[in-house]
Amino acid sequence: MLPSFLDRLDLQAFTDAAREVPYQQLSNALFPGLDVWVRRDDLVDPLISGNKAYKLIFNLIKARDQGVRTIITCGGAWSNHVHAVAAAGARFGFQTVGIIRGERSRRLSATLRDAERFGMKLEFVSRSQYRQRGACGFLFDLGLEREGGYFVPEGGANLAGVKGVQLLGRVIEETSPVAFDQVWVACGTGATFAGLFSSIQSMSVVGVEVLKAGDSILSNASYWIKRLACDSASGQADVQRLSEKSLGGCSQSLLSSFHCGGYGKFSPPLRKFKRAFEAQERVPLEPVYTCKLFNALHRRACEARRDEVERVLLLHSGGLQGLRGYE
Ligand SMILES: *Cc1c(COP(=O)(O)O)cnc(C)c1O
Repeated sequence: MLPSFLDRLDLQAFTDAAREVPYQQLSNALFPGLDVWVRRDDLVDPLISGNKAYKLIFNLIKARDQGVRTIITCGGAWSNHVHAVAAAGARFGFQTVGIIRGERSRRLSATLRDAERFGMKLEFVSRSQYRQRGACGFLFDLGLEREGGYFVPEGGANLAGVKGVQLLGRVIEETSPVAFDQVWVACGTGATFAGLFSSIQSMSVVGVEVLKAGDSILSNASYWIKRLACDSASGQADVQRLSEKSLGGCSQSLLSSFHCGGYGKFSPPLRKFKRAFEAQERVPLEPVYTCKLFNALHRRACEARRDEVERVLLLHSGGLQGLRGYE
């Protein structure tokens, strides 16, 4: 399994790379009664990794087609998204600007050191300024309007981003080595969940929330599912039907009790699971997303009793660069 490089900004080349992503079957030592596989999207590219690659593809193509030279985005000091944007900018010839939450610390995070090395210009803003990131005057207030850049919101969560995830959903349907009952994915904003939920028909999509989010992931995901339905619908009735189907199904499919203490928290039981898993399998996990996802399925498998073997696909959504924050 050699990681490939996304060497061109081209939809066909990207789709081909996505089709090459390996599926790996796990032993059932930690998942009793289940046949579990992992789709290794951490390997889609060594730097533009995981679900962030999918959320970026249509944004990058759009920026290029509009003749834009600079991509502007925002995130925290360990953001997988900021890292991916900086790498994509270096690879495909965009300037990049990262608006980073909080003050510049004397010793930058490994993520931000990489980002600067890739050529990204970092603009540190206070937490209260950062809270305005959704407001329309945000770039103007920071003096970044004159860059004339293409703005990608935090986490790549915009319509082009969720459409990129739909592409992933279609590739999963095409390339699954066995017929899965379910595909499981970690949820931060819920955008990846929404893209998969609205593009995968042959199996159900289960989202594991990695933070204490109240209803916000559900409402975010519902918003994107409706937007996608409107975008692809041929008429009003279609929109109605698609969004009803989705809203009913989607609240059942989000699991909110596996956040292990909150965003970025690496609790002792989670550490224990990670050690046990990595002793068993050759799949690297990071604490923020993938470890919580895999742990959730482990706990489900241990508590449920079934007579029928269920086949579950875990989506490895990348994020391994963030492991350096836990060293
Ligand atoms: C960003 C991220 C997610 C969460 O994606 P959302 O679309 O925000 O729900 C999951 N896994 C990894 C590794 C990520 O970097």
